[in-house]
Amino acid sequence: MSESFDVKLEAKTYKPDSSYMENSNIGDWETAYNRYLKDPDGFWDGIAKELSWFKPWDAVKEWKHPYAKWFVNAKTNITFNCLDRHVNSELRNKVALIWRGEEEEQERIFTYRQLHREVQRCANALKNLGIKKGDTVCIYMPLIPEHIVAMLACARIGAVHSIVYGGFGAAALHTRIRDASAKVVITADVGYRRGKHVPLKSIVGEAVVNAPSVEKIVVVRRTRPQVELVSEMEIDYYELLNEAGKECEPEVMDAEDPLFILYTSGTTGQPKGIVHTTGGYMVGTYYTTKYIFDLKENDVHWCTADPGWITGHSYIVYGPLAAGATILITETVPDYPDPSVWWKIIEEFGVTIFYTAPTAIRMFMKFGEEWPNKANLDSLRIIGSVGEPLNPEAFEWYHRVIGKSVCPILDTWWQTETGMHMITTLVGEPMKPGFAGKAIPGVQVDVVDKEGNPTPPNVGGLLVIKEPWPSMMRTVHKNDERYRQYWSTIEPFYTAGDLAVKDKDGYIMVLGRSDDIIIVAGHNIGTAEVESALVSHEAVAESAVIGKPDAMKGQAIKAFVILRLGYEQSEKLKNELIYHVRMSIGPIAMPSEIEFVSSLPKTRSGKIMRRVLKAQEMGIDPGDISTLEE
Ligand code: ATP
Ligand code: MG
Repeated sequence: MSESFDVKLEAKTYKPDSSYMENSNIGDWETAYNRYLKDPDGFWDGIAKELSWFKPWDAVKEWKHPYAKWFVNAKTNITFNCLDRHVNSELRNKVALIWRGEEEEQERIFTYRQLHREVQRCANALKNLGIKKGDTVCIYMPLIPEHIVAMLACARIGAVHSIVYGGFGAAALHTRIRDASAKVVITADVGYRRGKHVPLKSIVGEAVVNAPSVEKIVVVRRTRPQVELVSEMEIDYYELLNEAGKECEPEVMDAEDPLFILYTSGTTGQPKGIVHTTGGYMVGTYYTTKYIFDLKENDVHWCTADPGWITGHSYIVYGPLAAGATILITETVPDYPDPSVWWKIIEEFGVTIFYTAPTAIRMFMKFGEEWPNKANLDSLRIIGSVGEPLNPEAFEWYHRVIGKSVCPILDTWWQTETGMHMITTLVGEPMKPGFAGKAIPGVQVDVVDKEGNPTPPNVGGLLVIKEPWPSMMRTVHKNDERYRQYWSTIEPFYTAGDLAVKDKDGYIMVLGRSDDIIIVAGHNIGTAEVESALVSHEAVAESAVIGKPDAMKGQAIKAFVILRLGYEQSEKLKNELIYHVRMSIGPIAMPSEIEFVSSLPKTRSGKIMRRVLKAQEMGIDPGDISTLEE
């Protein structure tokens, strides 16, 4: 990064209806944030006390840079909080989980009591296979209720789960199984995707070759007639559950006992195996679901991520269940059989909180608003976004077409490493398109220069977290050195690896990855700025920009552009787009080259992989591309 880094920041402000603030669980930002700042440990102590513990903590935290313990010596089990706590209350017959398959008539619904029963049986089934506290179980499943049950069953008995997204192939699965030394793999015969089968069981069969840690493969058999179990290792999920006892007491877990390993998306390089523990993660995800997403008794919470990503772990499963929500999961993809399917699901099940990713929003923009307009979306109360910067254009579309100009948008910035939301606007606070918002009460975030000094408003820098937080990762699996790097790059802070800028009100805009920064004639330019400028042109659906070596300027900007339906590629349009960026940001950010493309390289979690474009462009090795979507 060079020194000067001014960013042009202009944004309309959107102010939600005052009833949102009046009824919100957390209240206004200023009061809540000051309450936290006055007594940080007291703040988290209060939140943690809303949950159930077998033994309370001796101290809220113990911090020996860069190692943290939260809720020191406390004992709990996260499934006790996600299930038993509700079963022991009037919520016992509340719907915990709604599942919708690819066909409209495919629906399964579980109350808290039913989910509790299933989890206990599955937990006993795992015990019968010899799984003990501390063993690792790999889950490689389609998005069906058994997936959620399997996760919770692991947590029930203290087994560490390592979930691998069902869209990965055999090689990526193999690496993850080996890295985590999984003893059991839980899978299904097939997943359904666009009316076709994804042969999960055969992929597992391939992946376990030369993975000696694996003793058994548990298979949910969905198709009829049932597929055969071919090897000695394969066992039927339901046969195993039928033989298992009904009751399974939750394992007593230390707050610092590991809960799971999860690999990052691999957007910027080789995926990192992030390790999260029990107590702090539970408190962080519960808190953010209840107070940041403002969860109410009657909410139907739909997070469209897959459990194979941190968003799914934290906001399909652990946060919402700990907070007693009704969660919705679906195996449908957003555009099959047509792009109205998700909106019809919202209408059908009365979804009130909807949480998705910019890549999905931009795709819906490309299809056009006639699809969401086919459904009644009045049940929606709050809508959210995560994963990449939400371009102002996409914000405005999401707000108007999906949120009907009423629903607050929570653009949440966070990472696999952080476990929970870190930056967003609170429900009811003014929103600025393009800006994620401010640090949530409970955490301290800032934008700093390379020396760690806060940058003034409108001057870009590196995004850091200044104090430990409960749901922070505890290490990188088998690579503690990499863990320490996060905390030593700009000591004593945690460096997120993202570029950002604050405006005069303290709102934070994420500008892109620090690895992807483009330096043109000595000026730093974040990829998100230029991409958002391009997306704000009516012809552009999506774009990715990279820096290419340039003899004169150091680097020159090349933009890859996907056009919206109905627009024709032409030289004239290229020039118009270059001019549009010039008018939006300034001459320094003008792309010197534009290429029209029909798709962009993305991770399987839907993030643009700029390093792949760059490698292609320069004819160099792209590095680890195990998470690249096919
Ligand atoms: P890897 O670390 O392997 O390169 P990754 O960083 O994409 O992959 P994740 O943990 O899934 O893995 O994603 C976290 C990153 O996603 C953040 O560091 C940030 O760059 C981006 N991100 C997440 N939410 C937002 C948001 N609301 N606005 C802008 N960027 C976001
Ligand atoms: Mg990352």
